Order: sequence, then structure tokens, then C-alpha cells
Amino acid sequence: MLSIVEQVFKKLNIDYTPRKNGVELQFRCINPNHPDRHASASINTQSGQWKCFSCLMSGNLKSLVKLVSGDISDIDNLITPKDTVQFKIGSIYKASTKNILSYENTVNFSHTIDCLMNDFMPATRDITSLNYLVKKRKLTKDTIKRYRLKYCKTGQYADRIIIPYYMNDELIGFNSRYIGDNPSTLRYLYCLNNSLFESFIYNYENITNNDYCILAEGPFDLMYLVQCGYKNVISTLNTNISRKQLTKILNFKKIIFCFDNDEKTKAGQNAVLKHASDILDFAPDLPIYGAELPVGKDPNDCTPDEIKDAFSHLKRIRLEPKVVPPSIFEYMRLNYNQGML
Ligand SMILES: [Zn+2]
Repeated sequence: MLSIVEQVFKKLNIDYTPRKNGVELQFRCINPNHPDRHASASINTQSGQWKCFSCLMSGNLKSLVKLVSGDISDIDNLITPKDTVQFKIGSIYKASTKNILSYENTVNFSHTIDCLMNDFMPATRDITSLNYLVKKRKLTKDTIKRYRLKYCKTGQYADRIIIPYYMNDELIGFNSRYIGDNPSTLRYLYCLNNSLFESFIYNYENITNNDYCILAEGPFDLMYLVQCGYKNVISTLNTNISRKQLTKILNFKKIIFCFDNDEKTKAGQNAVLKHASDILDFAPDLPIYGAELPVGKDPNDCTPDEIKDAFSHLKRIRLEPKVVPPSIFEYMRLNYNQGML
């Protein structure tokens, strides 16, 4: 399966040489003012970002198409048409994804994803992925199988654990976690059917009742909590709760957050507050609690006892009432009462 970038290059007749397992393509600079006799430019097939190392011109996939063809209106026609898919790159949280890059394209989603999934192997069958999941994430083989985790050895998703997302048993996309040792490689790389993903809640099909739900930050946290015996664990997998996700979450009588307790960035705590305020905007009386893990730990770093302890000392999350600026009438009334008007 060709990456979007390769499909575009082929349609535009740009010659290229794949590098780094196809993650990068080397090509002759497209800057009309730079007659490039060697292939001095390189594009990342995951982000679409390109750069010429000779004249230093750079840009994204759209700017490249515009430079070469003079028009970007045709970009959709360069790729096999069908459902909308968004390839997103970055980690779950905005704080760590300053340069989150996305480019929407029309491709035949179900075909694309089926082809890709066929290239992945069960994560239990490779020693590298098994080591990562068992040692770093504390997952058992049963959990790995239950969540149908895969591993990819070569190509666009090389050295990545694949976390498939199913909705009513239909595959709507996957996230991939890089476990290789190149520090400059993007940690997470998603392939999603965007229209379905908007209402998707991870593990929602395993909910047993609506008494409460436990919201986990990421998929590995969720799997570990389930493995530790917790029920009704779900994840929005995102910084923001979409309207469609919120509709589902508001059905629970009680909400418990179990997010990372990162000491420095406070990303986990901030995400909880953000989520909580989104929920309380619609349901101000809904009881929301936080399970506070030991400082500096995420669920996967904790022993089952540490998690148990956090859950037995739940902290109620309330937000400061919002300060609404007084209306002009209120302003007049106040001033009138004080004899100023
Ligand atoms: Zn150049």
C-alpha cells in the first residue's frame, strides 16, 4: 500500500528514492529557482513536511502540490476517492503536539485499512512487541489478545504497536505507538475514519451498566485498569470530548477520572480539568471524581495496590463557578444603588 505522499508523487511524476524504510522520500528540489542536479530534498511520508537541504525551501504536502502543478484544487483527484480519512500525527495531548500536523484526503478507507491490517502481525508473536507490552506496560498475553494488539515490522508503520479501534466490530481505524529507538520518530501515528471516530469511545462495548464510568487517558492505561479488575473503563482518546462522545458520557451517574499524575507538565491534571469542565457545562450536578495516582506515575507504572489505594481515596472534582461579566443593566443597577448614576 502506497502512502498518500507516494500516491501524490506518482501522479505528479516526481521521481523519488525511498529512505528509512519508506518513511522518507528523497527527490530533486521542486523550487523553480533551484536547478537541483542531485536529489537534495526530502519529504516525510507521515507528516507530509518536506525540505530542500540545499536551498532550504520547505513546506507541507499542499505547498508541494501547488508548486509543482500550480494548483491545489486537484489534490483530492490525486488520490483514490471515497470516504474521508484524516491522518493525524502526534501524541494525544496538544501540549506535546505543538506541531500537530494533519492532512485530510479522500481515500477508500475500508480498503486501505484492510490492506494495512493484513501486513501487521499479532503483537504476541514478536519478541520486541511482547517485551514492550509485558515489561513496560505490564500487560498479560490475554489482555494483548483481548484488545487485538498488532505489531508492524517494516514500512510506513515500522517498529510500531498497532492498537485497532473497533466500533460494533467494524474496524474504524487504529493508533500506532512507536517502540523503536530513533528519538526523532513521532511517537503516535493514527489512521482513522474521521466521521466515525468523532463518536467513538474506546472500550464502550464492554460497559456493563451506567452506575459509573472510569475515564482513562490512553489505551494502554485503560487495558491495564481492566486487567486489574476495574469495570466500565473507557477513554475518549482525545484532548477534547466531542459532542457525540459527551452524549454517551452523560448517561453515567458518576464519573471517575484515572489520568497520569505527571509532576512537571501537569498534562494529566490539566486534561482532567478540561474534560470535567466540558462535562459540568452540561450537567453541573454530575458527581465527578479523580483517582489520584502516586506523583509522577501513570496507571501502567503503578502496582495493583497503588491503584486500589487511589480508588479508595477518590477526590471530588468541582470547578470554580465561572465569573460572568455583569451585564450593562447590572452595572447600571450597582452604580445606581451606590448613588453614582
Ligand atoms: Zn532546493
